[in-house]
Amino acid sequence: MHEFDESIAEVADAVIRFARERTERHPIELGSPKSPQELLELCGETVTAEGIGATEAMRLFEDVLHPASLSVDHERYLSFVPAAPTETSVLFDLAVGASSIYGGSWLEGAGAVFAENQALEWLVQLAGLPEGAGGVFVPGGTMGNLSAMVAARDAMEHRRGNRPDRWAFIASKQTHSSVKSMASIMDADVIPVDTDEGFRLTGEAVAAALDEHGDRVAAVIATSGTTNLGIIDDLRGIGEACRERGVWMHVDGAYGAAAMASPTWRPLFDGIELADSFIVDPHKWLFAPFDCCALIYRDPDDGRRSHMQSAGYLAFLDAWGDWNPSDFAAHLTRRVRGLPFWFSLAAHGTDAYAAAIDTTMEMSRYAAQAVRDADHLTLLLDPVLSVVAFERDGWTPDQYQQWSLDVMDEGTAFVVPSRHQGEPCYRFCFVNPLTSTADVDEIIARLQHL
Ligand SMILES: *Cc1c(COP(=O)(O)O)cnc(C)c1O
Repeated sequence: MHEFDESIAEVADAVIRFARERTERHPIELGSPKSPQELLELCGETVTAEGIGATEAMRLFEDVLHPASLSVDHERYLSFVPAAPTETSVLFDLAVGASSIYGGSWLEGAGAVFAENQALEWLVQLAGLPEGAGGVFVPGGTMGNLSAMVAARDAMEHRRGNRPDRWAFIASKQTHSSVKSMASIMDADVIPVDTDEGFRLTGEAVAAALDEHGDRVAAVIATSGTTNLGIIDDLRGIGEACRERGVWMHVDGAYGAAAMASPTWRPLFDGIELADSFIVDPHKWLFAPFDCCALIYRDPDDGRRSHMQSAGYLAFLDAWGDWNPSDFAAHLTRRVRGLPFWFSLAAHGTDAYAAAIDTTMEMSRYAAQAVRDADHLTLLLDPVLSVVAFERDGWTPDQYQQWSLDVMDEGTAFVVPSRHQGEPCYRFCFVNPLTSTADVDEIIARLQHL
């Protein structure tokens, strides 16, 4: 690849300068999307027989493509679940890319997988799972949920010695869309169970559903931090109902389980230690870059039963210990995507993570109070985690939409409407410790008018 006009040194300078400036820059721009036509006009055809050169490709990225993409780590990007990767993790991501490590097997990735496993071990300990629990980093919560659901189904068939005509998963009506979507990939049903007045799935409701649906149920999927409202299900009650009936308990903590990192908030997750599997996305609220979800099994052999691939050309790998990350999810080749998370965790220490969680939780309490104090807004419920959901009194769905587009175009904030019980609402999701009270105050003031 040395026939490029630019020397490696020039390309390195350009990319590293960009990475450094982007990482150091505060405030950063929010960015704003453009249509395919607009982008084509600005870029032209970039893939050509001769190549446009790295200098020109980098110029297009910096001047056109990057500004046409939102910066999810912007202090006022408060929609969906934002991201707030540490500078340390983002910069180390460059090293991961440069190192060409294959993360599927111990033989090929031993050193990197060892470090990933130490980061996973921290999560195992936070959850209170027994020694020997472990798993793998996958791209996201969706893939984590799918891999755990498949493992649960196969473990249930293995334990019971038979399988129903059609499998089912029990989950709350507030469960994440990925659970329904992954069940449909598996040609299985999701049995939606009503929640209590606090929108929580309870142990009693799960016990009743399990007794009704019996051996059709492969697993109960509890959520520890619903995406829309941050609700945590009754993990202990659900765990006990599952234990008594020998059913797998999976906890979807993609967004919320990160708050276990703070001793102040760990009690909210009481009962997660009963889980057979759980997920948490470091790319959401554990300050790692995309794409990174930790998938953990109480007994990693359950993951292997479902996901280990065998082929003549893979057999050589088995001679080298038995910890091959590819065995624990629906994948084979994998980037060592847990390494930027590990690097930052190792560099800053776990106390820094606890403190950063506390900061974002405090900001959500501040914002909830500011909403209560505002004449034009109504808080929907006291925040449990770092989501604050509220209504803009008197606005139609169109007005909600229009305000969000306007503030995005102004570059002021990214706050989009959601729905709760059929009604439009706004929600702030705080994962960025750099979001300030002034940011919150200004957004709330801006909500006075269209
Ligand atoms: C975000 C989220 C998911 C999906 O995770 P991805 O990383 O986006 O695939 C699943 N469950 C919950 C509760 C989530 O918040």
